[in-house]
Amino acid sequence: MNWLFAAVPCWLICSGTALAVTSCTPKVCLLTNPKTYKADAFKHANTKYVSPKTGCNAASLGGYKKAIQALIDEKQVAVPANYDQFRAEMCSLKKIIVLPSYSSYPRFYSKFEDPELKHSGAGQADPPISGDKYVFLQPDTLSLSAATMLDRSLAVLKDKFGLTHSHSVKDNPAKSDASMALVVTLAHEIGHIRFHRDKKSLAVNKSCFLTDIETASWVPKSTPDPFNPNGRFRDFGDEIAGNDHTDADIPKPSQVKSTDDIAKIYDNGFASALAAASSEEDYVESFTLAVLQSYTSDDLTLNNGAAIFEHITNRPPDRTGKLIKKLDCAISPH
Ligand SMILES: [Zn+2]
Repeated sequence: MNWLFAAVPCWLICSGTALAVTSCTPKVCLLTNPKTYKADAFKHANTKYVSPKTGCNAASLGGYKKAIQALIDEKQVAVPANYDQFRAEMCSLKKIIVLPSYSSYPRFYSKFEDPELKHSGAGQADPPISGDKYVFLQPDTLSLSAATMLDRSLAVLKDKFGLTHSHSVKDNPAKSDASMALVVTLAHEIGHIRFHRDKKSLAVNKSCFLTDIETASWVPKSTPDPFNPNGRFRDFGDEIAGNDHTDADIPKPSQVKSTDDIAKIYDNGFASALAAASSEEDYVESFTLAVLQSYTSDDLTLNNGAAIFEHITNRPPDRTGKLIKKLDCAISPH
């Protein structure tokens, strides 16, 4: 799509400077049908997809509205052009939906109501589908630090190997831990939306996804087709059979047996351990890291006790030179 065309009107609406009429804030809502809303209804026979139902006036949303508006209004960013991509994506969401209670389905998630795909299960027709995009947040998102958020996302690193994340402030004014956690979460889910929304360009040989991400680290043509149910809504960090690394010496997260294995992932062009789970997560985590580095120049590190084990942001170029290309690709307009 012509991204500039899409981004400019959104920016005018969302910035609140050119048009002080509205903002993204009213789009932050609570899910009011958490028991019946099924983003993956298409996987279940005779299950009719319904769009999420929401209420947007609950007092409990106040902190979220304020924090998300602050991300929209943020001026002290490290890489403005890249941050504007993220900001425009946030503003193009139909709603940012806070779950009313903690859900393991599947923790954080996003839904792109792609008009080209069926959303109800076999035997049920779709309601009208118009391309709306949603991100769903767990209710405790604002109480987490970025380091805790990453420890939780990559629980295997902490639980099995005692590796934990930490955030050290460089920016002045400092970015809060809570705002960084929100950026990490929103960017990851928006990354999935971008991957599926931009699937047509992903399928074209000239796409940087094929050259800079899939070909760089994955068996060629092993990325599941987003038009196929297998390539659609998947559980967090799900590893896909056949979507394997070209270098068999680099483990997927489930195959990690030692801290040396973890270092192999970070030192061979992956944004995170989760990025090594699938080529889609590779794209998504590359987008997340590019957004995070556009938001702040702060250091996020993965630590083994008191010592830095790997730099997450601001890391030295990896020996393969792959990561910088992945980040450029993921943050660029498609
Ligand atoms: Zn993911």
